[in-house]
Amino acid sequence: MSKPTLATVWLDGCSGCHMSFLDMDERLLALAEQAELVYSPLVDRKDFPESVDITLVEGAVSNVEDLAKIKKVRAHTRVLVSLGDCAVTSNIPGMRNPFGVQAVLERAYVDTVAVVNPPPSLVIPPLLDRVRPVHEVVPVDVYLPGCPPSADVIFKALEDLIAGRTPGGNVQQFGA
Ligand code: SF4
Repeated sequence: MSKPTLATVWLDGCSGCHMSFLDMDERLLALAEQAELVYSPLVDRKDFPESVDITLVEGAVSNVEDLAKIKKVRAHTRVLVSLGDCAVTSNIPGMRNPFGVQAVLERAYVDTVAVVNPPPSLVIPPLLDRVRPVHEVVPVDVYLPGCPPSADVIFKALEDLIAGRTPGGNVQQFGA
């Protein structure tokens, strides 16, 4: 029986959720025996694989690249996990929503003592009119709230998912 595959994805987040993933420390070795990490900011692979069993998503959906990425990830993932408050609620990135895109760009690139002026249009992907939690854009199977969720919570959730369990009951068996 082949090992289930695991991916992690980074949208609009601070990387704190990935830091919490790394905080599993020696349990990462146990995890590596149970699942194969096939795509992540932590591994050198550029394209999302054709089929992944479990994908953890950090961050909210803030720009057109995030949107295209999460749609592709969803299409190629069996169990999609919203990892952390930015993915679950839009959290910190969503704080720009009441102001509108133009005001935010002007504040960042025109009003401040900054740097690049006018706002860059080539390097930064266009912002969506509103930052969205992941489930507003694609269906989500499991939510792990927290800012960030603790390493203990992530490990327990992955153990359950790899074993085909969720807190609500059975899901599917991988590699069967
Ligand atoms: S939930 Fe918290 S730790 Fe995770 S990406 Fe958002 S701000 Fe960072």
